Amino acid sequence: MSKANGGLTEEELKSFWMPFSTNRLYKAAPHFLREASGLYFKSDKGQRVMDAVSGLWCCSLGHGRKEIAQAVYEQLCTLDYAPSYQLSHELPFKLSRRLLNYLPDDFSQVFYVNSGSEAAETALKMALAYHQLSGKTEKVRLIGRELGYHGAGFGAISVGGIPNNSRLFPNQLQFTDRLPVARGDNPFIKGEPERDDTQAEKLLELIEKYSAETIAAVIVEPVSCSGGVLVPPEGYLKRLREICTEHDILLIVDEVICALGRLGHPFSSVERFGVIPDFITTAKSLANGVIPLGAVFVRSGIYDVFLSKSDTLVDFFHGYTFTANPAACAAAMACMDIAEREGLYYRASELESYWEQAVHSLRGSPHVKDIRNLGLLAGIELVPAPGELPGYRTWQLFRNCFEKGVLVRANGEVLALCPPLIIETSDIDYIINVLSDELGKLK
Ligand code: PLP
Repeated sequence: MSKANGGLTEEELKSFWMPFSTNRLYKAAPHFLREASGLYFKSDKGQRVMDAVSGLWCCSLGHGRKEIAQAVYEQLCTLDYAPSYQLSHELPFKLSRRLLNYLPDDFSQVFYVNSGSEAAETALKMALAYHQLSGKTEKVRLIGRELGYHGAGFGAISVGGIPNNSRLFPNQLQFTDRLPVARGDNPFIKGEPERDDTQAEKLLELIEKYSAETIAAVIVEPVSCSGGVLVPPEGYLKRLREICTEHDILLIVDEVICALGRLGHPFSSVERFGVIPDFITTAKSLANGVIPLGAVFVRSGIYDVFLSKSDTLVDFFHGYTFTANPAACAAAMACMDIAEREGLYYRASELESYWEQAVHSLRGSPHVKDIRNLGLLAGIELVPAPGELPGYRTWQLFRNCFEKGVLVRANGEVLALCPPLIIETSDIDYIINVLSDELGKLK
């Protein structure tokens, strides 16, 4: 047994195939997270590591929240499991009503899933089924966006736009297409780039190409996070909504990362961008990343079509064994208690200008090609290292920052930052200092 491998044997180390990872490089020099509290992880080597990416864009309330643990524990001791097929328990109904209070009355239903991928899959299937039930049987085409990310399932990769996620899978969903990437024209733009309706109006070209009669839905993130923290120009989502409404196309906004405070509001599409989508998906921070839970918020009228037009006893043949799992619902309730008590759904708007100045202070550091930000999100794009595989330089920076006590995320050539909403300005300074030092040392 080697101490260097966190006390794991070589066989143990080999056995876990880590997702979206460079398994070979990681396993040659592994490090492990052992504990977490507040803003910090503690590694197997006893080092404190500040979490500048909320785990994986999900632990927005910070770590080690005893209130969530207690709620889960009590729920497991009372009702550990309940199916939600043909009967359920009270919690998902209560949770739905409470979540819907943050949305306009246009939304009337919540469908629970276990992940962002399942949320996207569910919304896409609801959109397709809705048109079928409404008699618009030609509406089968789904439109995503280049560099968009909606998860790892076949539905998600078929509409997603990160090439590596789909390139080994020739048999994806048929009848899909993508809008071009939505972003500013110039580097180092702070916040939203200037209004440029031509980007959303690329949808009109797809409508021209395929005819609106064949397009079921458009799915986009408010900000493409995994694609590199790409912030669309001002008014983008609004223009997309207008075009969708005009052409009877459903709009799915994937707020798996952007909801629940990340952009300074409970739901960014509605409050920050002034748009009412037909579906909003979320996951990640809904249960603070500590227990799998996702949700699809459905606009009024859609559910009614399923209830009135379905010619089977079951109104929607879709769901999961763990839909509305009692412990997950209890965790989400506790998360809402915490966020409401501590004002965390709105905290990003208080910190946003400090955060923006701080991340943009890295402009001019070695290898930095662009910096983008919105709410408490930022992406620092690096010039690729010559002669290395794509993403190698950011991967190195990620490793080096970890050694220096800051966890960041390497997404291709972009270093992503998404700190817990409990962060203070002094913590932001700390993250930026470590990044500045490590950029300076990077080859
Ligand atoms: N949608 C968006 C916008 C995401 O960022 C992610 C994950 O990063 C997903 C969907 C997929 O979520 P999950 O990994 O929980 O399946």
